[in-house]
Amino acid sequence: MNKKDLEFFRTLILRKRDEALQNVELIESGSSGKAEAREDSRYTSHLAEQGSVTMEKELNSYFGTRTRKYIAQLNAALHRIEDGSYGICIDCGQPIPRERLEEVPHTRHCVPCKTKNSR
Ligand SMILES: [Zn+2]
Repeated sequence: MNKKDLEFFRTLILRKRDEALQNVELIESGSSGKAEAREDSRYTSHLAEQGSVTMEKELNSYFGTRTRKYIAQLNAALHRIEDGSYGICIDCGQPIPRERLEEVPHTRHCVPCKTKNSR
């Protein structure tokens, strides 16, 4: 991958990390799930119907944990950009197709290896 591509993905990952960090702040500031409402409105509206504050808090902590994990993966991807191993599948050693990286910039597997692993 050339320098220009690496720069492209660095910018992409930094932007995604910023968004994720904002979500974590929103979730953990206890604004009862507005940050994830876009993605998971099904769950939050369902909970609102039940009026279950406890469950909503647990859900927030779940989203917080998940988002932190995602941020850690983005950070790891930034490290791989620095050390030159970015965009290489850790299973088969082949370059990961660009379309896949644009979709999931923190991925460490090409599609065939990912499919194989999740079986
Ligand atoms: Zn692979």
